Amino acid sequence: MIEGMDNRIYVDGGWQQAAGSDLIEVVNPATEAVIGTVAAGSAADIDTAVAAARAAAPQWASSSPEDRARILSGTADVLKARADEASALITAELGAPLSLSQRLHVGLPLSVLASYAELVMAYPFAEEVGNSVVWARPVGVVGAITPWNYPLHQIVTKVGAALAAGCTVVLKPAEDTPLIAYLLAEAFTEAGLPPGVVNVVSGRGPVAGQALVGHPDVDMVSFTGSTAVGRSIGAAAGGSLKRVALELGGKSANVILPGADVTKAVKVGVGNAYLNGGQTCSAWTRMLVHESAYDEAVALAAAAAEKYAPGDPLDPATRLGPMVNSKQRDRVRGYIEAGMAEGARLVTGSVDAPIDRGYYVAPTVFADVQPGMRIAQEEIFGPVLSILRYSDTDEALAIANGTDYGLAGGVWAATSEEASTFAAKMTTGQVDINGGAFNPRAPFGGFKSSGIGRELGRHGITEFVQYQSQQF
Ligand code: NAP
Ligand code: MG
Repeated sequence: MIEGMDNRIYVDGGWQQAAGSDLIEVVNPATEAVIGTVAAGSAADIDTAVAAARAAAPQWASSSPEDRARILSGTADVLKARADEASALITAELGAPLSLSQRLHVGLPLSVLASYAELVMAYPFAEEVGNSVVWARPVGVVGAITPWNYPLHQIVTKVGAALAAGCTVVLKPAEDTPLIAYLLAEAFTEAGLPPGVVNVVSGRGPVAGQALVGHPDVDMVSFTGSTAVGRSIGAAAGGSLKRVALELGGKSANVILPGADVTKAVKVGVGNAYLNGGQTCSAWTRMLVHESAYDEAVALAAAAAEKYAPGDPLDPATRLGPMVNSKQRDRVRGYIEAGMAEGARLVTGSVDAPIDRGYYVAPTVFADVQPGMRIAQEEIFGPVLSILRYSDTDEALAIANGTDYGLAGGVWAATSEEASTFAAKMTTGQVDINGGAFNPRAPFGGFKSSGIGRELGRHGITEFVQYQSQQF
């Protein structure tokens, strides 16, 4: 079904012809070949989908936690059964190495669905507070808008939580990666989700996305994407008093304090910065190193970076695929030029294309980066690491906190207590202490311009409820 998709949208539990005839071509960024087409949904399609979500809302709102859990874990089962197809699709749409698609792009959403299935059973939907019972009611119809970089995970984090809360959904996936969203829609139906609870309309941001944000019958917008678009969505939602959740960009710091295991911190740090071609909102794109360990760290980082040779995503040895599209490739190369022009030292990498065909960028490391440089302030979204030097921990903290963003980060020190004490002063939503592992049940989201609200875990479900207090 997903292969050879054409001008259709997924509404009310099945496929429907889109209202218009405008199409979006889906391109494989490694081969530059068109691999399919999907509908470029219009405002009329969004209307149809929102009507279906509205009609399905009362029944789904009154479903039991057991029903929701069964469908969330059933969807994980269907996805697991289609994992090979889903991984291949993500690699084809996004260019992520196939092993990464299997392990992370498909593997993580499976864990997230399982976590919501478990958490919904324990969720405090009714709580006694004195003479009141406080009910957590679903917000209603949610408009979900997602980016291409983790095309399944980012959908599952919001749609799974919205379903757990009892909301219905209209999803507008990124135009670069719509096919996996349609596969997920089929999986929900196969798992027994009632028609209309999740609807998918592919389309362009300024058309379908904007229509969804502006739709009077949408109660909440949950958006993941760039800070620029997030600002405009937040403003529009404010104007119509819709609830809004925004997961936006980042420029996260990996702070290596004196006494830390520099070898490990650099190796893990480079891997984090280059994960998914550097197209990761939480990537540690700035490495902060004390002057006493600086030269050692730069040499280690360059050696680690050179192991990320760009290559065919289907080759099991490949760790770095292409950028998602030519625009993204050009943007990343522009930042490499900017880094050189501003006087940062290019330790490894290049503006030149490492491979002729496909949207590839060479893994790049800059040293002697100053905190004010564009490559230290702006989100690049590619395999470009900036290494900055500090001379005391106050300076490290000032640099770490010295951007508009605050999404993630890492701190390495001789002890986890020391790292945690430093992390407490960081204005950022997630910090890994001495390489602590990503936890899909911990809230994820940003301080400052990295967003409003949290996804994942119990906190992620809470994003989609509103409270009704009944007094007795
Ligand atoms: P983007 O341009 O903001 O697009 C995100 C989504 O919004 C896409 O579906 C896009 O549609 C849609 N959109 C664009 N303009 C819109 C408008 N005017 N109204 C409504 N919807 C609109 O971001 P991107 O370049 O695709 O993704 C990369 C960005 O996402 C990075 O900044 C990254 O940091 C951020 N991100 C954040 C998180 C997080 O959790 N904090 C996670 C992942 C990514 P089209 O696809 O048609 O453009
Ligand atoms: Mg885009």
